[in-house]
Amino acid sequence: MTSAHLVILGRQGSGKGTQCERLVEAYGMIHVSTGVMLRSAVAAGTELGREAQAIMDTGNLVPDEVINGIVAERLAMPDVVEHGAVLDGFPRTPVQAQVLEDMLDLAGTPLVGALNLDVPVGVVIHRMLDRGRVDDTEEAIRRRLDLYESETEPLLSWFEDRGLLKVVDGLGSEEEVFLRLCTTVDEILG
Ligand code: ADP
Repeated sequence: MTSAHLVILGRQGSGKGTQCERLVEAYGMIHVSTGVMLRSAVAAGTELGREAQAIMDTGNLVPDEVINGIVAERLAMPDVVEHGAVLDGFPRTPVQAQVLEDMLDLAGTPLVGALNLDVPVGVVIHRMLDRGRVDDTEEAIRRRLDLYESETEPLLSWFEDRGLLKVVDGLGSEEEVFLRLCTTVDEILG
């Protein structure tokens, strides 16, 4: 089977990261999470990490050209080429979506779906304050959610226009949500 990519969209605190881990385990794709990649660059103290940390701490977005470079490099690696990716945290802006489309056209790998894990704002704020990650200050959370509305929500119609968008209800237990996601992925992969 040729590889295919999926995108997972969802507000911060929607449970995207956890569900992506389970999906890649079930379907054999590679989890490509920009948040994970950036946090490991921060932990490793690389130049990218130092640059990204200050931005992430305020809840702002790392510049498109930086993120696009990181993702392009990752998508070109043999494991992703062979197995396909579940993209988590990318694309997050219309510029990133366009770059993704161009990268995939060049590589000949189709994007087969964009799953929107839908959880209301009021619910995600509580979840994020509870998880207590170091970059989860109240200020940063508010900033990230604002940016989600302004930068990332417009992507929903971008994906919908291409016939790729599937909305999955993200309320309920982790298991319930996972089963809903699997039903949708099965439909997509046919
Ligand atoms: P969250 O979903 O809680 O924002 P992530 O782990 O996806 O967590 O991202 C953490 C931070 O990393 C973001 O707040 C942002 O600063 C940066 N980041 C991650 N992905 C991107 C991206 N595609 N474009 C710009 N910045 C990004």
